[in-house]
Amino acid sequence: MDIKILVNKEHSLEKDFAPENLIITDNNESNFHKYIDSSVKPMISSEIYPYFKKMQEDALKENIHIIVDSGYRSYEYQEKVYEALVKKIGNESAIKKVALPGCSEHQTGLAIDIAYIRNNVYTDDVGEDDLETKWLFNNAYKYGFILRYPKGKENITGFMFEPWHYRYVGDIAKIIYEENLTLEEYYEKYV
Ligand SMILES: [Zn+2]
Repeated sequence: MDIKILVNKEHSLEKDFAPENLIITDNNESNFHKYIDSSVKPMISSEIYPYFKKMQEDALKENIHIIVDSGYRSYEYQEKVYEALVKKIGNESAIKKVALPGCSEHQTGLAIDIAYIRNNVYTDDVGEDDLETKWLFNNAYKYGFILRYPKGKENITGFMFEPWHYRYVGDIAKIIYEENLTLEEYYEKYV
């Protein structure tokens, strides 16, 4: 798989697309999947696992305890996520918040939703002013990750600002960070 792969509302994945090697990252019981299917653990592609682990370890040295809330999601799983949200908030609102099956980059195994632990309390209620969020915003690119749905770029990404959603893209993360681009803008400019 091309780690720079662009997945969005215009560029969707096939139903049977799945990354080859997935690794359970964090064996936390409080992860996002408990809402939909508690047997699912947070997994990411083995290709990006070392970079995530290094980022997590370095953050911890500064007392920033980040943990994967949600990583890989299959097409079928994304259907469940989407349907659950539609039930809760209706179709019109759901479409802005959660990707339709095939349009979620969580299906690549290269995307992670971050949660964190502070004073032994696990939280997935991630805000833009949180210490953890700020640390990630300023450091994630060093490990090949980008903030995928930034504030002020909603019309380009098609998603609302998500301070918790990071995506591994490898070397190009530095350019994207320094030039304040989205992955869509990177493609338009450089690919
Ligand atoms: Zn996400």
